[in-house]
Amino acid sequence: MSSYPFFLSPLDLGPFCIPNRALMGSMHTGLEESEDGMARLAAFYRERVDGGIGLIVTGGFSPDESGGIFGHAATLMCDADAASHQVITDAVHQAGGRILAQILHAGRYSYHDRSVAPSAIRSPINSQTPRALTSDQVEQTINAYVNAARTACNAGYDGVEIMGSEGYLINQFIVRHTNQRTDEWGGEFTRRMRFPVEIVRRTRAALGQDFCIMYRLSMLDLVPDGSSWQETIRLAREIEQAGANVLNTGIGWHEARIPTIAQAVPRGGYAWVTARMKGEVGIPLIATNRINTPEVAEQIIASGQADMVSMARPFLADPAFMRKVANQQSDRINTCIACNQACLDHIFQGTPATCLVNPRAGKETLLNWQPTPVTRRIAVVGAGPAGMVAALVAAERGHQVTLYEADGEIGGQFNLARRIPGKEEFAETLRYFSGELPRRGVTVRLNTPARPESLIAAQFDEIVVASGVVPRVPDIAGVEHACVAGYIDILTGRKTAGQDVVIIGGGGIAFDVALFLLEGGSQSHLDPTVFRQTWGIDGASPSVVPDRRITMVQRTPGSMGKRLGKTTGWVHRLVVKRHGVRQISGVTYQKIDTAGLHLVSNGATSVVSADTVILCTGQEPNDRLVSPLLKAGQIVHLIGGARMAGELDAKRAFDEGTRLAAML
Ligand code: FAD
Ligand code: NAP
Ligand code: SF4
Repeated sequence: MSSYPFFLSPLDLGPFCIPNRALMGSMHTGLEESEDGMARLAAFYRERVDGGIGLIVTGGFSPDESGGIFGHAATLMCDADAASHQVITDAVHQAGGRILAQILHAGRYSYHDRSVAPSAIRSPINSQTPRALTSDQVEQTINAYVNAARTACNAGYDGVEIMGSEGYLINQFIVRHTNQRTDEWGGEFTRRMRFPVEIVRRTRAALGQDFCIMYRLSMLDLVPDGSSWQETIRLAREIEQAGANVLNTGIGWHEARIPTIAQAVPRGGYAWVTARMKGEVGIPLIATNRINTPEVAEQIIASGQADMVSMARPFLADPAFMRKVANQQSDRINTCIACNQACLDHIFQGTPATCLVNPRAGKETLLNWQPTPVTRRIAVVGAGPAGMVAALVAAERGHQVTLYEADGEIGGQFNLARRIPGKEEFAETLRYFSGELPRRGVTVRLNTPARPESLIAAQFDEIVVASGVVPRVPDIAGVEHACVAGYIDILTGRKTAGQDVVIIGGGGIAFDVALFLLEGGSQSHLDPTVFRQTWGIDGASPSVVPDRRITMVQRTPGSMGKRLGKTTGWVHRLVVKRHGVRQISGVTYQKIDTAGLHLVSNGATSVVSADTVILCTGQEPNDRLVSPLLKAGQIVHLIGGARMAGELDAKRAFDEGTRLAAML
């Protein structure tokens, strides 16, 4: 008997049946607008269907010229669009899957000068003020949705998802503070909700019963003056009546200042929202947000909180997720760690999405590796992200790989990162590699610092140096004082911080150490109820009890944490601020002594009192093996932090390790 009987059971959506309860949810990849994007998307989706997913929703396509998020955003409007999508639908159908096209009109979230909205009210996250649609234009926009659905049908899609959440155009019609119209599309709720209801009703009428209509319903807006729960239920019922086959859950407008998919959100942390809708409508309901393991999915479906679960990022991380679930190999899943670094952050930087733990994602036609024609003996020094993945890929290709790790466990800095509140998911990556490395025949030597002489004596054909970094010790008088600790000392518990702490540095690790000191030790943030209270969701009142005085300092002027993740940095900055952490930028350090840290700020000398001064002052490459190996004539490759410590993160480490091993 399967461990996931509910998750793996088929479901009849009306127009067709799907083999399991997983939806690969909509995710814009950036390929939609690339020159060879459709062929790459076809390969991307096909690999996921081959990996066991039964139903996919594409990234969003605009129904007209004004609705794209960016000026050049892809549309679904005409025969030429339909023809270009055919390669995707063919690939998915040949593999036995189903695929829906998402129709997304961004409204006032459009970052171009053609943006429109129900009313000319600017969003707080856009400098562009939208033009208010006239009554005629509202009609035209509804017809554009219907036309987009028809175009999707012509392209071979099995249906559409109508994007009615995240604060996009449909949401803007529903909510009074963005819809101040006085015509038949504004005013009382019945009139405000007419816009989506008409879209669904006319789409059903135009496309018939065999075409699947999924509607993404904003069940929790997370913005002031959002829809009330009673309004949300009314809309859900009207959408069902209008002909939708299935309701997907939308959580939070983009302008919301509450995390919705970041690491700070506990697993399944919003399933309660979908559960609240159960019984209010008769069509299947899909739960979303931070569902990344089959255990969580099974629990949500088995407990009746939802009929299906939507996951998007987990299928970037592991295309074979569902096949592994079905084959009782869930321990072999490469789990999404919710970092957003290579997926959402890329999209907001205008780069195609990929995945930190799976750099092949989105590059299925570009980054591939073949069995090696000549098996070589390869040493990999260092089992951090760069070394782990290099060893794995080299072994997959048929090389004989020995992985040396000085520490007692694999993972490198991931073993520090996983101790940070909210980064517990990093442990899943270590679980994945702990299983896969021996399974692929990699000889893992723990507690074995590799030395030049032993590597040379072992006569490897090639040596990969992935020995990471060493923390930088800044040149500040008194840095050897007993009150000074390195971030590794604090995170590993070798030293304990007092009540009055100064953190030198304002980078990612400094923020993480601050969070560790503020919230570390307690697992309560993993509890969805505590998460709701902490963030004041749905009537709960936010609570923060600072129990330590922390000051962060950096030499660079300006606000701290500017280089934190595009889509997640604000969460870290907000949490630290809420806990009352003081931040001083643009300083010059003088000395550290028993009184604390002496510095100059704005031309004045002062002492920031501290019983503990923690150094988070960056790193230097740990590359000392390289020179003796090269001198001895060895073939040496350098990757990750060992190659370059500046601007290093795990995304680069995994990418470099993968690319090198693909060519060895
Ligand atoms: P490392 O992870 O440093 O691994 C090097 C390994 O080599 C170590 O295990 C070391 O013991 C071993 N080694 C060294 N010398 C030898 C030798 N002679 N013989 C054998 N073994 C040796 N990055 C992100 O992208 N996102 C984050 O959210 C994030 N959070 C972080 C939080 C913290 C607290 C920390 C400390 C780091 C974080 N990072 C994060 C950074 C990320 O972990 C690093 O960029 C990444 O681990 C670098 O990988 P690497 O393989 O190059 O080196
Ligand atoms: P970092 O982001 O480069 O920050 C280093 C900090 O040390 C800076 O604030 C810098 O501030 C200070 N510094 C540098 N040299 C100094 C010196 N000689 N004396 C005093 N201060 C000095 O590095 P990090 O925080 O150590 O993080 C390492 C890498 O891990 C980063 O590249 C980051 O991408 C990754 N990481 C990512 C995350 C994430 O959430 N995505 C989290 C943690 C780590 P001033 O120069 O202004 O003084
Ligand atoms: Fe998940 Fe991070 Fe990969 Fe995005 S980049 S899919 S959040 S692991």
